[in-house]
Amino acid sequence: MKKHNFSAGPCILPEEVLQKASDAVLNFNNDNLSLIEISHRSASFVSVMEKAKNLVLELLDLEDKGYKVLFLQGGASTQFLMTAYNLLNSKAAYLNTGTWADKAIKEAKLFGELVEVGSSKDKNYNYIPKGYEIPKDVDYFHCTSNNTIFGTQMKSFPEFDGVTVCDMSSDIFSRQLDFSKFDLIYAGAQKNMGPAGTTLVVIKEDILGKVDRVIPSMLNYQSHISKDSMFNTPSVFAVYVSMLTLQWLKDLGGIPFIEKVNEKKAALLYNEIDRNPLFEGIVAKEDRSNMNATFTLTNESLKETFDIMCTKAGINGINGHRSVGGYRASMYNALPLYSVQVLVDTMQELEKNN
Ligand SMILES: *Cc1c(COP(=O)(O)O)cnc(C)c1O
Repeated sequence: MKKHNFSAGPCILPEEVLQKASDAVLNFNNDNLSLIEISHRSASFVSVMEKAKNLVLELLDLEDKGYKVLFLQGGASTQFLMTAYNLLNSKAAYLNTGTWADKAIKEAKLFGELVEVGSSKDKNYNYIPKGYEIPKDVDYFHCTSNNTIFGTQMKSFPEFDGVTVCDMSSDIFSRQLDFSKFDLIYAGAQKNMGPAGTTLVVIKEDILGKVDRVIPSMLNYQSHISKDSMFNTPSVFAVYVSMLTLQWLKDLGGIPFIEKVNEKKAALLYNEIDRNPLFEGIVAKEDRSNMNATFTLTNESLKETFDIMCTKAGINGINGHRSVGGYRASMYNALPLYSVQVLVDTMQELEKNN
């Protein structure tokens, strides 16, 4: 039986997506060729790329609004520098919500002046800073919608008239947002969309071309846009599996549907964390992520017992990140409610026995 996969990333994908992906690796479209041995310029793959891009715009409700969709390589980590390379002329504002934001800040500093408008470093990033002001004269504002490691999630975004860039790696397609408020969204596929190997970039084309520096082609969004995301060989397998996952999501009812499921899963687990005296949450309640729930045992001596019980129940991937400790249960789109119930049952069993 398949394990209950709470892994933070790469993460669980829908069973039917895995089945279709494995079929395509052996025989794609009944062409008697593998998906991963055909040309990315072939009609069959070009149509996969087109379909994937259209699904992104459709699901995010960004059709006909001036956005381009790219599937790039180098992970979300390359976007930390690519965003700054393409957009940072003199000054940019960053919200520091922990590890990922911190890494983005470090890269952007190579290209200009940075203003850290808010930071939750004082409490090991266990909350989302609020009430900060974004200077009007910055080239853009950068934030991270969900901190995968600490388990915090931005529930609202600041009103800002300028260019807004958001790293949505770990919660894109999980909840309804007005995505048109963002000018550039990026997300590594392996958190909520597909396998590692491709990074989704959704970009409003009119924000480009405003920096003075020369940009190498591979790091220039414009080169990728002008070649429809085929400037060089794309990660065909990762794009294909992402397309299948997006189609799966669309067939289910899109983001409005999955958001409700995600809210149910998160409520089930957080209610147990708050109710069960053996557990406690790590982050500020109002900033809790619906994707990554972080928690600890109130009595550390029960760790071994709990870990053994989890293994027996088929629970995988709930160890906390090394910088936080404790546990982290990631509940991405493809994780069934039933898996969360199994985790909650295991927590209750620990309580009964102790
Ligand atoms: C995982 C993650 C990244 C890094 O992604 P890579 O694809 O490994 O470079 C960046 N930002 C966030 C929010 C993440 O969760």
